[in-house]
Amino acid sequence: MAAEGGDEREALRALVGQLKTNLGARGRSGLLGVAMKRAPARVPMAIKTPALSSPTAEAPTEEPAETGAPRGAEGLRLLREDIGDCQRCKLAGGRTNLVYGVGNPDADIVFVGEAPGADEDARGEPFVGKAGQLLTKMIEAMGYRREDVYICNVLKCRPPGNRNPEPDEVASCEPFLKRQLAAIRPRMIVALGKFAVQCLLRDDAPISRLRGNFRTYEGIPLMPTFHPAYLLRDPSKKKPAWEDLKSVNAALARVGITPPNPPAT
Ligand code: URA
Repeated sequence: MAAEGGDEREALRALVGQLKTNLGARGRSGLLGVAMKRAPARVPMAIKTPALSSPTAEAPTEEPAETGAPRGAEGLRLLREDIGDCQRCKLAGGRTNLVYGVGNPDADIVFVGEAPGADEDARGEPFVGKAGQLLTKMIEAMGYRREDVYICNVLKCRPPGNRNPEPDEVASCEPFLKRQLAAIRPRMIVALGKFAVQCLLRDDAPISRLRGNFRTYEGIPLMPTFHPAYLLRDPSKKKPAWEDLKSVNAALARVGITPPNPPAT
């Protein structure tokens, strides 16, 4: 019995050692994997140190830090007031409507796209055209409704002919995106396509390389994935994009956040 007790103590010491190493590595990477208050307490049966670059390795962790910025609906309202009838860049002259953002001001998940297209410019709402309809289906497949999440873009005005955003336009508009994210303080950001990723992460690696691996923006986990317009052009990429969204759900589930209508597994 004594020998068995000794073995158990030894196993426990090894477990604690592995845990310390694991948490230390994650802490240094800025991607702490410490269970937060909503996660059920569980004693791991076996400790596996996940590779930091693996797609599902990192979960959202602590509550995002308090920034002092006005929060939620009031924060978004004040920001919209500040943006006003924006004339800060050359896109102002060509717009029908400024496309601010839509959804739940206290959302757990924010989806960030590139810029409004013709349909969005006409309606003043992001992601309502063909790509938007696909995004809505993707959100619903995750178990959410559009109104449960928040949806916005890097640019708030439509570039002529849907051309790519130009650096001066991004520079004018990105402070608004950052303030939207500071007001909502979501638990997860899904960055749709290269412009959203470049803007939030300052990483211009191809989206095909970045997608599927969690990153962090201001302490908030961020999943880069393909833009729905790209998925319409290349439907073979829908499967990996869906894997990315499943990783998002799984990471949120690990901290006790589940969609209102969870998809069948
Ligand atoms: N593409 C985007 O990036 N955003 C929209 O709102 C619509 C299409």
